[in-house]
Amino acid sequence: MTDFSQVLAQHDWYEVAASFERCSEEQVAEAITKAQQQQRLNLDDFRALISPAAQPYLEHMARVSKELTEQRFGKTMQLFVPLYLSNMCSNICTYCGFSMENRIRRTTLTMAQIEQEALAIKALGFDHILLVTGESERKVGIAYFEQALAVLRPHFSHISMEVQPLATDEYRRLSQLGVESILVYQETYHREKYAKYHLKGKKSDFDYRLATPERVGDAGINKLGIGCLLGLEDWRSDAFHVAIQLDYLEKKYWKMRFSLSFPRLRPCEGGSEVNSPMSERDLVQLICAYRLFNHHVELSLSTRESAMFRDNVLNLGITSMSAGSKTQPGGYANADKSLEQFSIDDNRDVASVAKMIASKGYQVVWKDWQPGLNR
Ligand code: SF4
Repeated sequence: MTDFSQVLAQHDWYEVAASFERCSEEQVAEAITKAQQQQRLNLDDFRALISPAAQPYLEHMARVSKELTEQRFGKTMQLFVPLYLSNMCSNICTYCGFSMENRIRRTTLTMAQIEQEALAIKALGFDHILLVTGESERKVGIAYFEQALAVLRPHFSHISMEVQPLATDEYRRLSQLGVESILVYQETYHREKYAKYHLKGKKSDFDYRLATPERVGDAGINKLGIGCLLGLEDWRSDAFHVAIQLDYLEKKYWKMRFSLSFPRLRPCEGGSEVNSPMSERDLVQLICAYRLFNHHVELSLSTRESAMFRDNVLNLGITSMSAGSKTQPGGYANADKSLEQFSIDDNRDVASVAKMIASKGYQVVWKDWQPGLNR
């Protein structure tokens, strides 16, 4: 049976990177028309939409993206918040504040501290949380997750997780314990450059990470989020590979829901330079292109982006946003910024973000699986 590594092998990175310059404005216009006519776009259409040739069409793409999103999702915006359980990590990733070689204070929340965090988050109005950890099998493995979920499940109706890649049986166990969605980002699909950013630990195994979405699918998890870390390598090439993987996974796991995120590299403790900068205009182009390519995929935007940017793009295709985020363990009950993974850009509190969303005519949804329910 085919797996995604075989699909990836059919796409040469450098050939993909060179292909964007060959796209024409005619191809862009054709792809937009297909999307408007509710036709399914193929990867060549998507290639054209993220190419430089699409830049003069950005306003047109944004209009169509907005229309398609409203038709499929209504004028709603899901809000969620990350809950960092631990900043322990056994990997060295050159772009991350939790990297093992960084001399920061390390902590893993106890069950009592998790309960405190849950109450603090609940008081903010959230019903959907994203559990985040560093990747430390020894400290935060499946046994720890089982205990943490027993504490959190009574407080939240939707729990997502962004933790180290696990085995299929472990994902099955998480599903039984009420985990609705798993997020796992490949960071970059450039196999050789991946090794340059992931110097030590299990994360340095490119293929194990690449196969993770399929283990999640095999385990029967309801929703999967994928993406890459924009800024590591050429953003167009990495975004194109995300689209290839999405296309592949949707065919293989047709019952699953999918979401995409597009995190841009942020400053952090010991972090490396942004190798391939992506402008806000580029990011708008990418958001609209993903929507035109796939009308039902969920698109998520985090507090990594500025308040002004988030306010301006929320109606262009985005379906969920984090708000009031803290990127350090224990950050809601007791703020200690020295423990954070990266600094966020949109520092507004949750109430301010919810108010902004409502002012744009959108309904805030606090619970993932029950759209239309207002707080
Ligand atoms: S990106 Fe993840 S695995 Fe890498 S150092 Fe940070 S927390 Fe650890």
